[in-house]
Amino acid sequence: MKHALLFCLLALATSRVAAQRDDSLADLVNPLMGTDSKFTLSNGNTYPAIALPWGMNAWTPQTGKMGDGWVYTYDADKIRGFKQTHQPSPWINDYGQFSLMPVIGAKIDPEQRASWFSHKSEIARPYYYKVYLADHHITTEITPTDRCALFRFTMPPTDSAVVIIDAFDRGSRVKVEGRRVTGYTTRNSGGVPSNFKNYFVVEFDRPFDFFSPWDGERLLPGDAFTGNRAGALLGFRCPVGAAIEARAASSFISLEQALLNLERETGGKSFDRVRDEARARWNDVLGRIEVRGELSLRQTFYSCLYRSVLFPRAFHEYDTTGAPVHYSPYNGQVLPGYLYTDTGFWDTFRALCPRLNLVYPSVNARVQEGLLNAYLESGFLPEWASPGHRNCMVGNNSASVVSDAIVKGVTPPAIAQRLYDAMIATANSVHPRVRSTGREGFEYYNRLGYVPCDVGIKESAARTLEYAYDDWCISRAARALGRPEEEICLLEQRGQNYRHLFDPETSLARGKNEDGSFQSPFNPFKWGDAFTEGNSWHYTWSVFHDARGLSTLMGGNERFVAMLDSLFRLPPIFDESYYGGVIHEIREMQVADMGNYAHGNQPVQHVIYLYNHAGAPWKAQLRAREVMEKLYRAAPDGYCGDEDNGQTSAWYVFSALGFYPACPASEEYLIGSPLFPSATIHLENGKSLRVTTRGNAPYIHSMRRNGKAREQNFLNHFDLLRGGSLHFQMRDAPNTRRGTRAVDAPYSFSPPRE
Ligand code: CA
Repeated sequence: MKHALLFCLLALATSRVAAQRDDSLADLVNPLMGTDSKFTLSNGNTYPAIALPWGMNAWTPQTGKMGDGWVYTYDADKIRGFKQTHQPSPWINDYGQFSLMPVIGAKIDPEQRASWFSHKSEIARPYYYKVYLADHHITTEITPTDRCALFRFTMPPTDSAVVIIDAFDRGSRVKVEGRRVTGYTTRNSGGVPSNFKNYFVVEFDRPFDFFSPWDGERLLPGDAFTGNRAGALLGFRCPVGAAIEARAASSFISLEQALLNLERETGGKSFDRVRDEARARWNDVLGRIEVRGELSLRQTFYSCLYRSVLFPRAFHEYDTTGAPVHYSPYNGQVLPGYLYTDTGFWDTFRALCPRLNLVYPSVNARVQEGLLNAYLESGFLPEWASPGHRNCMVGNNSASVVSDAIVKGVTPPAIAQRLYDAMIATANSVHPRVRSTGREGFEYYNRLGYVPCDVGIKESAARTLEYAYDDWCISRAARALGRPEEEICLLEQRGQNYRHLFDPETSLARGKNEDGSFQSPFNPFKWGDAFTEGNSWHYTWSVFHDARGLSTLMGGNERFVAMLDSLFRLPPIFDESYYGGVIHEIREMQVADMGNYAHGNQPVQHVIYLYNHAGAPWKAQLRAREVMEKLYRAAPDGYCGDEDNGQTSAWYVFSALGFYPACPASEEYLIGSPLFPSATIHLENGKSLRVTTRGNAPYIHSMRRNGKAREQNFLNHFDLLRGGSLHFQMRDAPNTRRGTRAVDAPYSFSPPRE
């Protein structure tokens, strides 16, 4: 009887744990999604970021050599360390990195200390990572806070348990003080002033039995070392084994601030408590969107949602009074206020930033304050920041990011006008050193309406198309802020500059010479040249704000739809000569078996939704569903190209909900194919938007908004903020009568909808 009762209690306890697990959305995330990648083919080019949402630091097991952008690859056999990282992508690489690695004996060299591991003895969660290091018989566990991490190293019985701290090369320091190691690392990949340092402190739960600094090759006497590469060996005698705990923190401001961060975020907390808090934080952020349905699809959804709330990364810290303060990667000073970084707006203006405005507007309000700070500190809004301005990609898409937040009322009113001024300034200048910041070729663009392809400015057509969209974005902000009509008109006029590049002979966008003649010869399958990481077939559609205008240029809706169809029907032929080799983005298009559609790169990620403009919404529904089902899964090869700082994930998050922000700053979302039987967005304003479907099929037969039939192919942002319900009746066959009228089409600049 007693035993039976005990058994019952145990069973109850076990099932409660199981139930908790089931409710834990963070446990549905696979941080290894996208890690099965290499230089020649990207299945995501991600690493497992053990971090908090938008946290300043992430932690990752390191399988690659020091400096290798492929920091963790799924097919690797050995782990060399556990690294604090700020890397947004392998192509941009890391800054301010340092690592910890537990070993047995004095193995400082990364080749010597590296240990075999297996994915079978690895647990990766956003809030927790655990792995068995076989060569040392040591288990390592990590759990993060915003700016710190707790480590637990379970050591075997030994008199030479060791933790190696590696502050990396190009200038670093370590100093052993009691149970602490302090120091700094200066390693970076550009985009920092000369005084850049990441100050760190690692504090252990017991004194060291022996220790030694090292210089990358040799152990050194004394307790400190400053040089090209500094490290520390910290030794423990543990004859019966031990679980050694360490707390690591850092600061871009000072060592004092690193100690403050350590105390504020981890003071008095056990490893398990920090882990529970980290899991709760993830469940809160992920739980803002609650989806019900098939487990594997939920795993993919939450893995994508996880990836898309890691960036942009907070770069600010909190001073002794609790006020935000940051080291400026733009001018090297320590200044008040927020700052976010590690994002390329060429990627993330498309879906990630609009997703912030819908689901996490309070975060984007701070991001906008940070953007203003970046402008005040450097004279430019950032386009690709990591941590300061980086020379990467094209466009002036900060205009989209800033305008979308202003139009949607997310930007704090006190700074909206100043951000508007920042957009105008950034649109009419170019950074003297970082030419992808501001507008390269703005003088030509303002004079001719396009950036010519024969004046030594590369990828000129891509720039022109994006500048034109960006100008339209600024015009929307201008209208929201009540700017003078003539100012708005000029911006709207410039928003039509895409027309200069439309070649009526091919119905495609084409580079143009300064004298007004089109670039010749013209190969619409040529990647790069006048375009950026794509060809004319991809870039022609970069008229986010005026699909109707583009359709009219092409000859009307029928032709527009035929051109869209062709994108998928054309074989994946390409001309890679601009790059002198097949870049991975081209290969990813070639192998996807979706014709010339290249979902693995960002320029086309809105294109499927454009069918909604031309009376063929069912084609958007089918294609959106096809991409979701074919190109995404919560597995190491689960993306179809570079994930890119949450953008490719944000595409999935929106698409799975059934709508997508194909034209940020327009207030509208274009409808696709909702994936789940039920999805609920818990909005920050306290309201909830419930999206339900009936019938698991790609096509929308009918749709109801708050119980009322709706034919239109779009939804309004402010309407969604009111919460309520969206219900879709899905079918296997298209409803070719629904959403075909002119009034069903989403916003286009020209001509206005009746
Ligand atoms: Ca990309």
